[in-house]
Amino acid sequence: MLQRRPLIAGNWKMNGTLLDGTALVQALVERLGGDTHGFDLLVCPPFTLLHAAVQLSLSSSLNIGGQDCHTAEKGAYTGDISAGMLSDLGCRYVILGHSERRADHSESDALVNSKTRTAWDAGLVAIVCVGETESERDTGCTLDVIAKQIADSIPGDATEVNTVVAYEPVWAIGTGRTATPEEAQEVHAFIRKSLVDRFGEHAAGIRILYGGSMKPSNATELLALADVDGGLIGGASLNADDFWEIAQSCA
Ligand code: PEP
Repeated sequence: MLQRRPLIAGNWKMNGTLLDGTALVQALVERLGGDTHGFDLLVCPPFTLLHAAVQLSLSSSLNIGGQDCHTAEKGAYTGDISAGMLSDLGCRYVILGHSERRADHSESDALVNSKTRTAWDAGLVAIVCVGETESERDTGCTLDVIAKQIADSIPGDATEVNTVVAYEPVWAIGTGRTATPEEAQEVHAFIRKSLVDRFGEHAAGIRILYGGSMKPSNATELLALADVDGGLIGGASLNADDFWEIAQSCA
């Protein structure tokens, strides 16, 4: 059976000062130590903390990533950050198409697709987020929504090396509500099949993370599901003990 190494990723969103952000990274570096663990650990702090986070993580296996990037390599884009800049700092991953960016910044599937290609070109692994809203789930069109987001947000040559998919039901993000194991597994299996149908058998190796109010009390159950290969964690990733406990759940 194909082995997919679990990825536990923290999305700090717009949280963290230099003081508390570096303390959090330091706490994770200490927990990781020099040991080989059965999972990859990633934190995605705000841009302001990336340099410090990368420097602190150098002696460990902790990965650092960005929360977004622009489609262009460089240029007159005030306030934006390019994928090359993230890569230049030492980031390995970038989150793209998070539902908060889709909603707050009107990011379309086409834009996410273009960002994903730019991220690949810069040598980053793109974590492409998809997920249905509450009304889409209530009207029974979850799988149609996911199918369209997967088809339109991920460019033609995705591989298990350059891409991770995060399934994040919008109604579960930051709400304390979590998809049931059955709901999560249904969508994850559907995403896996869509990826294999489109990209071929190797795409079964693309990791699919669950995101949406994952915490120590529900992580074991979610991470044990056949098609859940890790988590994208918001709120609980801001606490080193909680985040570490979630990571331990997939060991
Ligand atoms: C997220 O924003 O990616 C997320 C999953 O947040 P939370 O864990 O807080 O629901």
